[in-house]
Amino acid sequence: MKNLAEELKSLGFCRVSVLDGGECGIAEKRLILCFIPYESAPEDPDKPEAVIHPYYPVSQRAFRIIRQYVRKQQAAGFRIRQDTQIRIKPVLNRLPFLRQGRNTLSYLPEIGSRFHVQIMVSEEAIPVTDHLSALPHPVSCGECRRCVEACPGGAIREAAEGELSFVRERCLRWWMLNGQCPPDFVFASNGNRLIGCDVCERVCPMNPAPDPHQTSETVPLEQLTDGENTDALADAIGSNYARKTRLQIQSCVIAASTRRRDLIPRLQEMAESDSEPLRQAAQKGLDVLHSYCFPPDNPV
Ligand code: SF4
Ligand code: SF4
Repeated sequence: MKNLAEELKSLGFCRVSVLDGGECGIAEKRLILCFIPYESAPEDPDKPEAVIHPYYPVSQRAFRIIRQYVRKQQAAGFRIRQDTQIRIKPVLNRLPFLRQGRNTLSYLPEIGSRFHVQIMVSEEAIPVTDHLSALPHPVSCGECRRCVEACPGGAIREAAEGELSFVRERCLRWWMLNGQCPPDFVFASNGNRLIGCDVCERVCPMNPAPDPHQTSETVPLEQLTDGENTDALADAIGSNYARKTRLQIQSCVIAASTRRRDLIPRLQEMAESDSEPLRQAAQKGLDVLHSYCFPPDNPV
């Protein structure tokens, strides 16, 4: 494992940080963080399909690369494993080469916030490359408030200088991932996003502009409302998120938010589902679509 960083860089990671396990509060000798960047695509709110934020396909690809790498190292006798459970945010908040954004995201020099981190732990005494700061980074945004103003849910709040204030229940992404029926503001402002919301990153001056040549992966909304092939999405967004009911709930949100009147019959079927959150989401979607599509004197 002499050339761990070089080998991982040749696999697409832009930076590898080897940390002392004790400093990070883990039992193993080393915590290894592998950073992989991704390009963001311009948003297209008029696209009729459900849009997958580019973070998710890249994170899934990175997961598979590290899984393969670990198998190879283990076969050579090295004590190393992939980890998906460690809470990484407190570690990132103290990594000296990262900066802290008001939007709660960490920023890599020359990359910005558009990166994903894969994690390995090892019992091998691999040379440590970085030491954690004693305290978490303060917010390093100066006077900028662009993400506070742009966030569609108002999740990023004003706070004392240098501090963070984030209301996760007002973040679209939080609702996309939790499998419950979201509140009204999500139905109003989600647009065509299936998973991921780029707004607070897109407005941020610490990030490069989206690459105009990139396009995001999309899924036909009809496929989601029908609950078809949802397992096939696991490669792009991960099996935790590619669950049929969760995706159907999100399809109700998108259908309402993008005013897809043609999907009313599908939402009516989902409103009879055995799943309580799906029933609620379908009903709420129907209420929204009816309020948009049918004048009060001509109800359907
Ligand atoms: S991900 Fe979207 S909803 Fe969440 S804080 Fe950022 S802009 Fe707001
Ligand atoms: S948009 Fe401005 S306030 Fe928000 S994270 Fe970026 S620099 Fe900080």
